Amino acid sequence: MNSPTKKRIVLKIGSNTLTRETNHISRGKIEDIARQIEALKESYEFIVVSSGAIAAAKQFVNLESNGKEIYVKQALASIGQLHLMRIYQENFRELGLLISQCLLSYSDFKSNTSKENIVNTINILLENEYIPIINENDTVATDEIKFGDNDKLAAMTAALLKADLLIIATNTNGIYTKASLQSEQPETIKEVIGFESLIQEVADGKSSHGTGGMKSKVDAVEIASKAGIETWIVNGLKENFIVEAVKNTSAFTTIKPKNL
Ligand code: GLU
Repeated sequence: MNSPTKKRIVLKIGSNTLTRETNHISRGKIEDIARQIEALKESYEFIVVSSGAIAAAKQFVNLESNGKEIYVKQALASIGQLHLMRIYQENFRELGLLISQCLLSYSDFKSNTSKENIVNTINILLENEYIPIINENDTVATDEIKFGDNDKLAAMTAALLKADLLIIATNTNGIYTKASLQSEQPETIKEVIGFESLIQEVADGKSSHGTGGMKSKVDAVEIASKAGIETWIVNGLKENFIVEAVKNTSAFTTIKPKNL
């Protein structure tokens, strides 16, 4: 059951945010996320969808690929997931926040039994004030490794868990207008109603948006919108990006579903 008093937020943090666009996981960024979740916890409950397993592993190991790049990435994800969760746990615990790990794949969203299990587990975690941290189960699936960086997984999770809001952290101040990109003075689109309007706006936009680029953001927004969920695309590289968006004091894009 959703909390009667708290809004449920699914927060998607991609590898580019977690590494602050470097080659290693940024403890500072994870600390920044923990601090914000702590600051907002009276009114919001968070489900975090986090990539970064492969990036974490690359700090420690170098596996030969011999042309089997995707398998190597899966192996790196398996090695790095523990390091990633350790870094989350160390930083969240400092602030008294409890975390748990859930590894999911797209196929889990096709089976009614799996879906029921996901919902029941995550609801119990949230009721007990644990913050579920979800990543793709990269041993059994490669969808998000190949394309997407967990954008779609986050939207599917938001729909299944009846979230009130999906926040996708990326490396730009939301979506920029086509005209402003052409003139190289990016200007954020504040609000669009319906994902169809977003498609029109970004059809040939050229800003960079993580490994999935803009396409996986649009796919994610479509899934969330169809489930009646609002999506915010925010700049995860900025300090305090969640709190600033909640207070509406930063530039970000809101995509409202048509039926709200
Ligand atoms: N599940 C992968 C990871 O956590 C996603 C890889 C990515 O696209 O960054 O590393």
